[in-house]
Amino acid sequence: MNSFGKVASLIGVILIVSAGGWKFNNYMYTTSTPTCQLSGIEPGGTYGQAIVGKVRGQDDYKVARLILSIDGEPLSTFKIGKSSFEHPFSLSLENLSQGKHIFTAEVETGGHITRKVCQKVEFYVDKNPVQLAFVKNGVDAKVYQGKTFHLQFQANKELKSAVVKLFSKEYPCFLESNRSLVYECYIPIECEEVPHEYALTVEAMDRVGNKASLETTVRVLSFPFRKQSLTIPADKIKAEDEKGLSEKDLETDIEALLKKSPRQKLWHGPFITPIEIKDQKQITTDYGVIRTTQQRGVCQHKALDMYTTPKSVIWAPQDGIIALKNRFAHSGNTVIIDHGWGVFTLLFHLDTFAPLEVGEMIKKGKPVGTLGKTGYATGYHVHWEMRIGNVAVDPLEWTKSHF
Ligand SMILES: [Zn+2]
Repeated sequence: MNSFGKVASLIGVILIVSAGGWKFNNYMYTTSTPTCQLSGIEPGGTYGQAIVGKVRGQDDYKVARLILSIDGEPLSTFKIGKSSFEHPFSLSLENLSQGKHIFTAEVETGGHITRKVCQKVEFYVDKNPVQLAFVKNGVDAKVYQGKTFHLQFQANKELKSAVVKLFSKEYPCFLESNRSLVYECYIPIECEEVPHEYALTVEAMDRVGNKASLETTVRVLSFPFRKQSLTIPADKIKAEDEKGLSEKDLETDIEALLKKSPRQKLWHGPFITPIEIKDQKQITTDYGVIRTTQQRGVCQHKALDMYTTPKSVIWAPQDGIIALKNRFAHSGNTVIIDHGWGVFTLLFHLDTFAPLEVGEMIKKGKPVGTLGKTGYATGYHVHWEMRIGNVAVDPLEWTKSHF
């Protein structure tokens, strides 16, 4: 062996010895905690069939074993023998009962000191099909043009999604309350809806992806809307046009507000009228009156006009969020209250606004402003409009029915 060979073999010996020493050191003295990561199983998730996922783990020295358990009972143990690993698993739910379970993946290290880490995930097994039954308006349902069609059905479990399909449109369904499995849907019937019998379908899906549906029919009945003609002085229109934003601006605002409406029912119980009605004569224009005006021609008044002493307080008809407070040419001083799920109260022609900020919560019966004649108004009155998903419906129905 020449000198070069001697040096090379000496370096080799040193490397082997030091590598061995390094391993020995790690075997003896590694104290760090190994890692364990679970994928394919979501905390709090619901599963109907097998769960397929992966466990990843790593240790500064070596992972010896991976132990998988369900509800504290060991399911399987895998020998690893590497510092990092990725192990697929498939969990059959066949023998698991309906309801909550805990899946545990435990990583155990080799070495002089055995170290462990475990990941626990709580999940739910749901093997039951979805069951649905109508509770309200499922049989022989009839609704007038301009009214709200309130549908209720019960499910056997909480659903991931539920919609009602009617008039080639979709309407969202939501839980009546947190303590109930009754779902409800508010469908605004346009004044122009053609009287006819329509097919209605409820489509529901649970968290596992099981689907179910219900079918019925709804008969839309013709409502005998009255007629009225109205003249607003040209100088009043000109003056208001200078003070307020356009009707198009208001509609654009409403479209934007609708997208932000909380997916939560903020109202409780029946609505109240924004002013006290002691005499039916205080209602100057009913909902749905077909009106002829010089600037619009023939159009339907899809709100209630009512009056009382000028500058009296106007009250919030229900709990909600102040969604808009602004001056428009046609509607004058305007307030919109968002009651959640796209149900809006619109109040027009206020004299003054109550000190309210947009975005703040308001309770039923709290002041919104005072009775005025701002906008295209011929005299002191409040115009109360209710919109569901931007379709104006009869507000009085919401004061009488338990929606
Ligand atoms: Zn009106």
